[in-house]
Amino acid sequence: KNLKPISDSTPQPPPQSLLESESGTGTKGITEEEEEDTYETKGYQIKRQDVKFKYINPNGKKGTKQEVQAQHDELYNKVLTKEIHEPKDFNIESIRPPSPDMLSKYKHANATIVALVRNHEFGAIGRTIRKFEKSFNEKFNYPYTLINDVPFSDKFKDRIQAFTKSPVEFVTIPEELWSKPDSIDVEKQTTEMNIMAEHNVAYAKMESYHNMCRFYSGNMFNLPELQKYKYYWRIEPHVEFYTSINYDIFKYLEGTKKVYGFTISLYDISETVKTLWTETLKFLNTGDNYKYINKNGAFQWLLSDTQLPENNQIAGGYSTCHFWSNFEIVDMDFLRSEAYTAWFNHLDSTGKFYYERWGDAPVHSMGLALFADKSKVHWFRDVGYFHDPYYNCPKTSHTRGCEPGQFSKWDHLNDQNCMASWIDYSIDDLDAIY
Ligand code: GDP
Ligand code: MN
Repeated sequence: KNLKPISDSTPQPPPQSLLESESGTGTKGITEEEEEDTYETKGYQIKRQDVKFKYINPNGKKGTKQEVQAQHDELYNKVLTKEIHEPKDFNIESIRPPSPDMLSKYKHANATIVALVRNHEFGAIGRTIRKFEKSFNEKFNYPYTLINDVPFSDKFKDRIQAFTKSPVEFVTIPEELWSKPDSIDVEKQTTEMNIMAEHNVAYAKMESYHNMCRFYSGNMFNLPELQKYKYYWRIEPHVEFYTSINYDIFKYLEGTKKVYGFTISLYDISETVKTLWTETLKFLNTGDNYKYINKNGAFQWLLSDTQLPENNQIAGGYSTCHFWSNFEIVDMDFLRSEAYTAWFNHLDSTGKFYYERWGDAPVHSMGLALFADKSKVHWFRDVGYFHDPYYNCPKTSHTRGCEPGQFSKWDHLNDQNCMASWIDYSIDDLDAIY
């Protein structure tokens, strides 16, 4: 059964009302002529024309914002409440857990479980590890890498090792990968942070949070201790796992050559990423950087403006849709690639991890949408997960503790869910994968 009732049509020219002129402050534009360097996905285009990338959205959802929201809620609910099993696009039987007596001889994928945490969070990360072990890792014993900007205390180390039989490596981040660069204009930073705080942007004035976002965006995978690994799975304090995962998720990524796995996709606080997209366009239009764009990128999801048009407007054409990175499974070869590195260096040079509050989630997500094939970005629909206040709660025979289809703790937050846009625009055949 086709679960994509809304956007399955072939590309058509946009109605005149959607056309926007090239002049003005926005990044939107439209060109008539077809050119070589045009990247298209179901009617959504990013075009290179001399110095400007442009996009058009000819298949924007019809109806008012409320109607679009209702369509999206319905689609999301329909997908999550249909009983599902494990992924169908790989031989799952070949990546089952070993029997317990063979566990010590298990041949792992080249992967680690990571968490950035502070010393005082030992209880909360311990509880997460306990739940994570039960859901997944006690069947595989993947090693942990716990990361901190200051050395972990002996108390922290002792407590953590009690929660798992797997090896745990404790890492202190070198100063230069964590701290604010000298190039940041402190006066400007203070002014901009105050403005964001006045707009009630969470963590606006907390410099360590900005450090954290920059670290996860561009430096974490350069830690010496992570060089030996290809994949990481990120966990955090205070999260929940509601399903039992009975296949080796890392080997699933490896076997399918997928580069990224997520559970939740949502809209961001647009004030935190006001110029992330415009800075990205500057990068793409410099030299021959456009060559980095993947023709099968998730452009439509990245740039849509139907559900929360105001977000798109404030964020200069970026939908603000992103994968929530508190759960992410990543092939670090992607983050270490020339494309991602060159782009991150441009972003970093703007100082806007401090003058704005660019999160690692929108940065990873935008990088993936532009430089990865969207079929290599995997929604782990079968993994029940919660980070306050959002869920991914699938209907499976072993889901315990969440309500299938529920997205948020509070209904008024349902409009923050961007998953329907991902389902619509980025999954070619839902039933073939799940
Ligand atoms: P939120 O989910 O966006 O509200 O952010 P969190 O407070 O959960 O932070 C994200 C992750 O980074 C968590 O794993 C935190 O433990 C960790 N983290 C945040 N700030 C710091 C910091 O200054 N030092 C360390 N070591 N970890 C941090
Ligand atoms: Mn968190």
